[in-house]
Amino acid sequence: MPELPEVETIRRDLEPRVVGRTITAFRVAEDSGKPVPVVKRMDEASFREAVSGASIRFLERRGKYLVFGLDSGLSLVVHLRMTGALLYRRPTDPPDRYLRAVFRLDDGHELRFADLRKFGGLWLVESFDEVTSALGPEPLGEGFSRELLEAALKDRKAPVKSIILDQRRIAGIGNIYADEALFEAGIDPRRPGGDLSVEAMLKLFGAIGKVLLAGVESRGASFRDYLDADGNTGNMQMYVRVFRRTGKPCYNCGTLIERVKVGGRSTHFCPSCQR
Ligand SMILES: [Zn+2]
Repeated sequence: MPELPEVETIRRDLEPRVVGRTITAFRVAEDSGKPVPVVKRMDEASFREAVSGASIRFLERRGKYLVFGLDSGLSLVVHLRMTGALLYRRPTDPPDRYLRAVFRLDDGHELRFADLRKFGGLWLVESFDEVTSALGPEPLGEGFSRELLEAALKDRKAPVKSIILDQRRIAGIGNIYADEALFEAGIDPRRPGGDLSVEAMLKLFGAIGKVLLAGVESRGASFRDYLDADGNTGNMQMYVRVFRRTGKPCYNCGTLIERVKVGGRSTHFCPSCQR
């Protein structure tokens, strides 16, 4: 699933290409609207009418969401969820599989939204908060601090991994980067948040920033479906140290990486390095 680094990669690739462009047309791919509509909370015709003719003024990311600011004052919000991709194509480029919707731009390019599992969606809203009002601060932004992480963990019995995956606490961390950050910090993902020492909490704070930045620098992780805006895979999957390395030796100590379930999520960790 695309997490912060993957969505940020798409944002950075698209920003210089789409900001200042006008959306000239929108269509939902045949058969794609069923059974799950790709346009959320609005009928397709109203959505098409509202985005057609609108210019894109900015492109931001919040958590795992892309937010296209339109000159009409509305925001076009895209969430890729499990398998979504937002592809920048020419109309003459070969068709993309699992195509769900297409935005035509005034320079002739297309933004194609493809999504195998159909969990992703498009929203048109006056305020981003209408899609999610409960998103925590950006872990790579100024709004995130040691104090904030400390407050999120304090007195909590929930596993530390579940706490850092909670989008209301910190926006944008998913399963890959949670496992990698906890390895980097040397913390057992099952430990209750409230049990962490100040030292461990500080390590985790640094580790979250480090692994997310590494993910952005590697253009995201492509384990299965993630593709950037040009349809290419990222590189971070080559640099992970525990995620999906079950049964392989830890790069630090040689102990075999184990997989357990934490809060219902597959979790990969080194039983020797992570305490
Ligand atoms: Zn180890």
